[in-house]
Amino acid sequence: MIKFLDLKATTALHGAEIQQAVSDVVQSGWYLQGEANRQFEEHYARFVGTRHCVGVANGLDALIWIYRAYLELGLMHPGDEVIVPANTYIASILALTENGLTPVLVEPRLDTLELDDAQVAAAITPRTRSVLLVHLYGRCAYTERLGELCREHHLLLVEDNAQAHGCRYGALRTGSLGHASAHSFYPGKNLGALGDGGAVTTDDEALAECIRALANYGSRKKYVFKYRGRNSRLDEIQAAVLDVKLRHLDADNAHRQAVANYYYDHLRHPLVRLPERLADAQNVYHIFPVLCSRRDELQAYLAEHDVQTLIHYPIPPHKQECYKEWNDLSLPVTEQIHSQELSLPISSVLTLDDAARVAELINNWKP
Ligand SMILES: *Cc1c(COP(=O)(O)O)cnc(C)c1O
Repeated sequence: MIKFLDLKATTALHGAEIQQAVSDVVQSGWYLQGEANRQFEEHYARFVGTRHCVGVANGLDALIWIYRAYLELGLMHPGDEVIVPANTYIASILALTENGLTPVLVEPRLDTLELDDAQVAAAITPRTRSVLLVHLYGRCAYTERLGELCREHHLLLVEDNAQAHGCRYGALRTGSLGHASAHSFYPGKNLGALGDGGAVTTDDEALAECIRALANYGSRKKYVFKYRGRNSRLDEIQAAVLDVKLRHLDADNAHRQAVANYYYDHLRHPLVRLPERLADAQNVYHIFPVLCSRRDELQAYLAEHDVQTLIHYPIPPHKQECYKEWNDLSLPVTEQIHSQELSLPISSVLTLDDAARVAELINNWKP
């Protein structure tokens, strides 16, 4: 059986160091807001290339806090429009509606599956205040044109880097390309904890301070409450685990890139379309998506041959029950992606032999 995701093996890859880090926290008797958080935040900020990193409870909260802080700081106002890719994971959009902001769903490009900057330009109105750029599937979605559009129209550029830890854009990393970035450390992500975790990275000190307070009941000083916050902290065990895994992140991503390169070099099937290939550094392959007009048949065929695949994602946000008001929107590129996308196995522990087996099966598929 070739598993889509093998978290047990992923953890075992750095098992001894992780065990030691967990044990150190257990022994320390200090479980929240301590040295492990301080260390990880410092290391992750340095890795990403920002002045600040604030650990929070999960990736959705990281997104929610960024926009909540912009509201608290008076840089955004309820009802402001935020441009967001229509084909993203629902969390990106939940963070906007949670804050009373207006998501403007914009179509991606079919060749890259990422936000289309021509469509962004067309969607900007006088009420647009921000672009939420999602590096979907682990692929850098930033473009020079998008950066220019944000500068020209004074838009806050926020990155959703939940799927692209360690990804590069030239000499920079994703997570440092805009005004602020949200990161998720959900166990299956490239940098994954042993439970929930998240972080915000930014160069903006006021924003970082505000988020640190919001995620701690709204308090910067014990028993003094500046904001109506929540409890949304990263715990010490997760921070210690993440600090270990961060040291191996580039090597783990390089392994994913080797698997992806194998797929790109060997997958040849008239019905299976691969996204445009990027230079290695610009894609950390959280997911390896392919498009296939007979996706469900391909998935069933691979399952029969003991290969697990997933779909990211079967139902686009605008077709979800929680966003009934958008159910009649027509977003043909997004809908095509959701009906044709299939995610092949890829991870830091998938062997090249496994990748070869997957590629061979697909190449021999006779629908
Ligand atoms: C995983 C993910 C999130 C949410 O992160 P959680 O830690 O699960 O809350 C947000 N955006 C994207 C694109 C994601 O993939």
